[in-house]
Amino acid sequence: MNYRHAFHAGNFADVMKHTILALVIEHLKLKPSPFRIIDTHAGAGRYALDADAAMRTGEWRNGIGRLLAGDLPPEIARMLAPYFAVIRDANAVTPGTMEGMPAIYPGSPLIARGLMRRGDHLVANELHAADHAELARHFASDPQTKVLALDAWTALKSLLPPKERRGVVLVDPPFEEPGEFHRIADGLRDATRRFETGIYLVWYPIKDPKRVRTFRARLADLGIGKLAVAELLIRKPVNPDLLNGCGMVIVNPPYRLAEKLGALLPFLADRLAAGPGAEGVCDWLGQSPFDQV
Ligand code: SAM
Repeated sequence: MNYRHAFHAGNFADVMKHTILALVIEHLKLKPSPFRIIDTHAGAGRYALDADAAMRTGEWRNGIGRLLAGDLPPEIARMLAPYFAVIRDANAVTPGTMEGMPAIYPGSPLIARGLMRRGDHLVANELHAADHAELARHFASDPQTKVLALDAWTALKSLLPPKERRGVVLVDPPFEEPGEFHRIADGLRDATRRFETGIYLVWYPIKDPKRVRTFRARLADLGIGKLAVAELLIRKPVNPDLLNGCGMVIVNPPYRLAEKLGALLPFLADRLAAGPGAEGVCDWLGQSPFDQV
């Protein structure tokens, strides 16, 4: 396990996945009954953007850096408000900003925790020993958060269905081992059998579009309920060695989420573009010509 999220925190992929996570949590909050958030690949939780790892790649500059640097149309500002509120809170305890930017970037478990209500629960799972230790330290005295150090897919077997029977499962693997796309499809099939009504958010990279097409076709064949796919390309994916964009599979998308993403993703593509051909789309899996292979 070589991947460390500290090098990538706050990049365009984090912006995309965290804005979607925040929108889904806000939707769950529309009903008073409690819910559970399960973060299978949680990372360390909290990242200093002025630390050596983040400074070395500087990826956050073209992600959260650009997003916070410009004005936002009112509709987009409304959608991003909960996400921005968590970033603000994460920095409230660390005075000082760096180059006018927040010095701390909250990862997915902190975003989840920041948006939860009393009565909601978070399970944050992270296998890497050092990142797990940091995460466990952060949540040590939080009765609403359980931190685990299991293999993600093993964890899901014991965690699903959650006792609340409501919630969201975020699956955010590092894609450092071959076969990750296959593992996701198999894991998602098993998980949705255990917890059919859950919302699942599964992140994936877009390097070679052919591999993504095969993955989407495989998912469409699984027959697991309603599936939407959000994709953000920061450039036309002509070089398969680059991270040209990323996607999020959304199982059981909340009401009107696809519509909201239809407005948010083109905005993010425009703001975070790294070259010609940037675009952001959200469509229903199996209904796009892209999925007919
Ligand atoms: N979700 C985090 C966020 O948005 O802030 C970032 C997660 S990062 C992309 C992926 C994480 O998965 C890494 O911290 C890595 O150590 C962890 N990981 C890798 N293989 C794992 C496995 N089999 N089970 C659980 N965690 C794993």
